[in-house]
Amino acid sequence: MIEVDLEACSGCQKCLKACPFAVITIIDKKARIGDGCTMCGACVQVCPEEAITIERKVRDVDLSKFSGVWVFAETWENTKFRKVTFELLTKGAELASGVGQELCAVLLGDHVEPLVKELAAYGASKVYLAEHELLGQYNTDAYSSVITGLISKYSPNMLLFPATHLGRDLAPRVAATLELGLTADCTGLTIQDGLLLQTRPAFGGNIMADIICPYTRPQMASVRPNVMPMCEPDASRTAVVIKETVSLDPKGLRTKIREMIKTDIESTKKIDEADCVISGGRGMCTEENFNVLDDLAKELDGVVGASRMIIDLGWRPKSVQVGQSGTTVSPDLYFACGISGAIQHTVGMRGSDIIVAINKDPNAPIFEFAKYGLVGDCNEIIPTLIEEIRHRKAER
Ligand code: FAD
Ligand code: SF4
Ligand code: SF4
Repeated sequence: MIEVDLEACSGCQKCLKACPFAVITIIDKKARIGDGCTMCGACVQVCPEEAITIERKVRDVDLSKFSGVWVFAETWENTKFRKVTFELLTKGAELASGVGQELCAVLLGDHVEPLVKELAAYGASKVYLAEHELLGQYNTDAYSSVITGLISKYSPNMLLFPATHLGRDLAPRVAATLELGLTADCTGLTIQDGLLLQTRPAFGGNIMADIICPYTRPQMASVRPNVMPMCEPDASRTAVVIKETVSLDPKGLRTKIREMIKTDIESTKKIDEADCVISGGRGMCTEENFNVLDDLAKELDGVVGASRMIIDLGWRPKSVQVGQSGTTVSPDLYFACGISGAIQHTVGMRGSDIIVAINKDPNAPIFEFAKYGLVGDCNEIIPTLIEEIRHRKAER
């Protein structure tokens, strides 16, 4: 509930200007709040008289009964895990010890039980396992209904999702169904005063926002692949397996997957899991020139990435876009060829071990991130580089 203390209000109109939803009017030099207030709190912050108060309705739940740090374990074709699963388990273990609770994994799929031991090796002491034919391929309705059911039954304190395509579809659905908060694309997670402090870039990466979720449980966050470090697995660890029986009716699922067609790119290594990424930007000049990056990738056993310009030009699919609105990568070796180094690009690749930049402009911002910089025309340097690599391979 939002209220204005009319006696305290001086009629200064600061709240009126601050309200993003234009629901404040000044009548007789006093602020009045009309219908449509979203309780965003902007007016409270600007009021010099502290005349506006918001009392948030907190659901009557005993937060202390929620326990456990859960990680959604994303698999690849029911046979192996996406690397981000291990990154989340590593971070989850740290959070779990911070609140003195157990680390659990949630594993959904078809005949995926053999994968449990790997979750244990990365620190999960308990695995909630749901197997069903209809969980063999990701389906929003099926996955979200199983996860919301598990949450309602076991009341976890925190739940981490990978900010992959799958996680970005699933986590908001779960959050909306259970009316929970969710912080997407976190780059930092810590415990502060017993709460999950979720840090994520905001305003194009110019500020870091710290977000907490004090009123609902589980506290939910998603984390991009390659942002958190991964621990060494310990094969001697074991986990308790809680098998959940799920009954799913295909008629209850609104989306039917009729056929999976893999593109050439998707059937090779994923860009966020490759050890070597060779990205090109507008400086490659033409689509034909861009294709030379495939040859370099072949020589270095790498994967070709691109700046958003290239995706907008339609030269490559969105799945290979590196950056803020694409994928975050952190390979051992990253080539930025004809890429200027805009912040929206660099936030997605600056975690790479060795960055090589090729650009004809010696003042291009990309050089600030590069360990090795080559000033010159990509379309001359890259073919020469490929020739040299082939030559050296032949000499071996
Ligand atoms: P340009 O900025 O045009 O740079 C081309 C570079 O090539 C220049 O430095 C030039 O000196 C060099 N060059 C030209 N010719 C040659 C040559 N022959 N040889 C060598 N060098 C040459 N961008 C992303 O990449 N990823 C994102 O996820 C992303 N998300 C965004 C989200 C938002 C909300 C916004 C607003 C923008 C986003 N962008 C993203 C776009 C980003 O701001 C830049 O516009 C984009 O990264 C620039 O791409 P580029 O470096 O290929 O092209
Ligand atoms: Fe406007 Fe937000 Fe204040 Fe409501 S809480 S009156 S929406 S500024
Ligand atoms: Fe009144 Fe405060 Fe609004 Fe000024 S900012 S009009 S004092 S409620």
